Formats: sequence, C-alpha cells, structure tokens
Amino acid sequence: MLIVTQQGILDAATSPVEDADVIMTAAIVGHAYIRLDAKKNCLFDIEIDPETLSTSPNPVPRSADEAAAAAKMAFNWAQHVRCVAKINVALASMGDNFGQPERGKEAMVGVTPVCDKDAGIVRVIGGTGDLSPMSKDRYTVVSPKATLPGALLLWIAQQPDVGYQGRGAYTGFVQVDDGSSQPGLFCTCRQRAASPSMPVDKTNPRRWMPSMVKSPPVDPKAPNGSLKPKWDLGARIGIGGDERYWGMIQDNALQCTLKKLDMYFRDEDKSRAQQPLALTDIVGYTHGMIQAIYNVRWLKKGTPYEIAVGKKTTKLASCFTCAIFMEANGFPASATHLGRGESWCPLYAASIESNTTQDVSLRECNAKWANYCKSIIDAGIECIASRLTDAGHRVSYQRLIDYVAAHQDAFDYANLILDAVTVHDSEVNRIDRTLSA
Ligand SMILES: [Zn+2]
Repeated sequence: MLIVTQQGILDAATSPVEDADVIMTAAIVGHAYIRLDAKKNCLFDIEIDPETLSTSPNPVPRSADEAAAAAKMAFNWAQHVRCVAKINVALASMGDNFGQPERGKEAMVGVTPVCDKDAGIVRVIGGTGDLSPMSKDRYTVVSPKATLPGALLLWIAQQPDVGYQGRGAYTGFVQVDDGSSQPGLFCTCRQRAASPSMPVDKTNPRRWMPSMVKSPPVDPKAPNGSLKPKWDLGARIGIGGDERYWGMIQDNALQCTLKKLDMYFRDEDKSRAQQPLALTDIVGYTHGMIQAIYNVRWLKKGTPYEIAVGKKTTKLASCFTCAIFMEANGFPASATHLGRGESWCPLYAASIESNTTQDVSLRECNAKWANYCKSIIDAGIECIASRLTDAGHRVSYQRLIDYVAAHQDAFDYANLILDAVTVHDSEVNRIDRTLSA
C-alpha cells in the first residue's frame, strides 16, 4: 500500500500539527452538524468529578499536589466549555438556527458518568446515545434477561488480572440477551495498521508518515546526530530512543510495560504469520468497543459495551474516534469525550481474498465507518470555513479542500482521520487551536 512520507499529512510543506488540527476539528464539528441536523442531541463530555465543581469556588488546598490538581481541573473545565462554545459558533455559520440553544440545535457540554455500582452505571454503552441526556436508560440499560448483570460486570471491572489493565484500560464485550454464549472480552490491541509490504487495497489506500530530518545529537559528545522527525510528534521507540515505529504510544519502555499488563500485540502474533515491525510500518490500536461491534455484526445479535477495567480507569465515555465508528454502525455512544484517541485504528481483514464471517463483518463495519468519515469531514469543512484562528490553519484548511477534491473515496477521508490521530494530542486542544471564539 502507499505510505506517503512527507512533512505534513496534507502537503509536503504544511505543519503536521495544523493539518491534524484542521482534519479533526472538521470531523468533530461535522459530526455535531450531522447529529443536530437529524434532530438528535450532541453532547461532548468532560471527564471531571462533579463534586469538585460543586465545592466552594476558592477551597483552600491541603497540599501543593492538591492545588495543582485543582488548577488543572479548572483549566480543563474552562477549555472544554470554551471549545464546545467554539463548535457552536462554527455551527451557527450554517444558519438555520444551528448553534442556537433555544432551538435545540446546539452542541452541549456533558459530564462523563463515573462508574457507580449502586446506580448501575458500570460501562460505556453502544446504542443509547440518541436517548435524552436526562434519561437514565442512556447509561444504565440492563436487560432482565441479561447474561451479565451489572454486579457481575462490576466484579469483572475490578479484577486485577482480567485482560489488559494499563493506560486507557477499556475492555469491550458483547451482551447477548438470549443466554447464548458470550464471545469473550476484547482488550485494546496493538497492530500493524499500515505497511508498504501490504497489498494495495482500496479500503486502505494511503497513509502518511512524517519525513525524518537529521537533528543535532542530544548528547553533544555523541559522534553523530540522530535521525528523527523535525516535529516532536507521537512516540519514539528503538535502541537509544532514536528510531521509532510511527504511531506507537509513548516510548520503548512503555511497550514493555504494556506487554506485562497483557496488551495483545497482534503485530507479533506468529499464529497470524506476522513478521517483526519495520520502521516503514505504521502502528495502530484497536479499542475494545470496536472489536465488540465487529462481533455484534458477525453474531447478528447482542449489544456492544465497554467496561472500565482496573482501579485507575473509572470514567465511562468513548473517545471521539470510537464514537464515530459506533455512530456509523448504528450504536451511538452513551457518552463521548474530547480527550485522546492516540493512533486509533479499525481492524482489517486478514487478506483481500479472505471471506470468513469475521472478515466479512470487518469489511461491512469499516465501509460504514468510512462513509460516515466522508460525511462528517465534508460537513465540517463547510462549518469551519470562516472560523479559523490563523494563517497556518488556513493553509492546512485549503490543503484539506484540495486533498478531498482529488481523493473522493470514503476510505481516503477515513484514513485522514487515522493519520491525524497519529499526531498525539487531545481533541479539545486541536479544536482550541483551530477555531476562533
Ligand atoms: Zn476509543
């Protein structure tokens, strides 16, 4: 497959950060536009403790750490509210009462539900996102015939040794109400998302990788400069930390930790005839919810869920990249955050020829997702046209328009989103940089 190696995602001369900003902001605003246009609600949730917000405005912090945490939370809250307001200003430029609160066509700030056993809120739900934010069914659907009741789910969520427990430990599963067997739990897995050695496939037409430049050595006594991207993006990995597999989360050391925490490295699975990663490959991560949706499609029944696993992961919202895949496949997310979806990617069929039931369901779900990516980017491009903050973002915006004019296949659009999230940042930061108030 084609992997374009150049400075920017959209052009050899653009900033990859500004390209990613514009691509993701267009997608997010476009997603809001399409939901509101279909008379559905549009909530962007912030992961914050409501109790913190309700305490007195100037509590006396007990320690420096507590003061720093309070300041960070106040900053996050203000930024989130500001960004949702910016989304509404962009929506308002479309007329027809978009972005206007009194007409019910505005994006709203939501607060991510926290795992709460007593209230039955223990998981992210695929399929309840169209219900009113006030409806408790949005967060607590438990079927009387459910084979996994809430208490059992919570027990699974609290086990120290069920699946991957590290950063972003959300585990997908399918609940089948007729009592038939469960297809198991799906943890986030790492995979080779793109490689020049993969055959040319129209469902994976083009991916981007930043060009490398020679930079001065960090250690001035070292004989040679190391090869690294001009921009400090994403993750670096390899001996001495100089080489990188593009897309990998954080650094070399973290990969060992993730493996110890039981993250499945699909790219190393010998039973799948995998070869070791090469520096020309792009690495991606498929979240549990996405794997659950493939299985629902394959089983033709059930509801996809994601549970927060381990002690550290307690907030129950989907990343934006999962949320649009869920939306496209008819399972709107119970809650959507604007944090990180670092190197998110779907799964791909084992080969172009493979026609196993699983691979057919992968292709069907991915095609719906790609079509939805095209719809939201096209809508978002119109919405944000007059709202860009500065010249750099206007250049990236123009390159985006040029790019989609020349690449009209749905997977070309979808892969722009995959490329943008290899530039690791939270979506709220991208919106903040891209849109004027
Ligand atoms: Zn996700």
